[in-house]
Amino acid sequence: MTRIQLATVWLSGCSGCHMSFLDLDEWLFDLAQQVDLVYSPLADVKTYPPGVDVALVEGAIANRDHLSLIRQVRDRTQCLISFGDCAITGNVPALRNPLGRADPVLTRAYLETADGAQIPGGDLVPPLLDTVMPVHTVVPVDCYLPGCPPNAERIRAVLKPLLQGDRPALSGAELIRFG
Ligand code: SF4
Repeated sequence: MTRIQLATVWLSGCSGCHMSFLDLDEWLFDLAQQVDLVYSPLADVKTYPPGVDVALVEGAIANRDHLSLIRQVRDRTQCLISFGDCAITGNVPALRNPLGRADPVLTRAYLETADGAQIPGGDLVPPLLDTVMPVHTVVPVDCYLPGCPPNAERIRAVLKPLLQGDRPALSGAELIRFG
């Protein structure tokens, strides 16, 4: 049997969605029999590889590194899953959007609420975008997996059919509710 090439991607999110992935507990052993985890913060792989079958993308697009990574993910992935409310709606990272620009966010974080600090420049941190964007507003998304975080049951309900070559169809409040 051909093994599924699985990736998980961490953009602007708290990593809670990845923690929920680990809540799959013993099913992770079943999963490990069927997939190769080719890119993930859990595997500390640096370069997103070509030929990925399924990618779970946690978090919104908040900086320029996210922008270039999500475009690469889209180019190299057959099924891109918006994984969790931050990826789907912007959620918590997008709370800064009413400020309108990145500058007041940086000023508040690095100058007004810190002593003697300065806004980092150069290549130290990737430049923030003025607006935090959900994934589907930047690249096409194949599947939405809501929740903050999505619980393990939902994650399994999406991954199981994909492993068998079927499209997942989430329905019912337990599987599609936000939050
Ligand atoms: S959806 Fe919730 S758990 Fe997932 S990254 Fe966002 S804030 Fe964290």
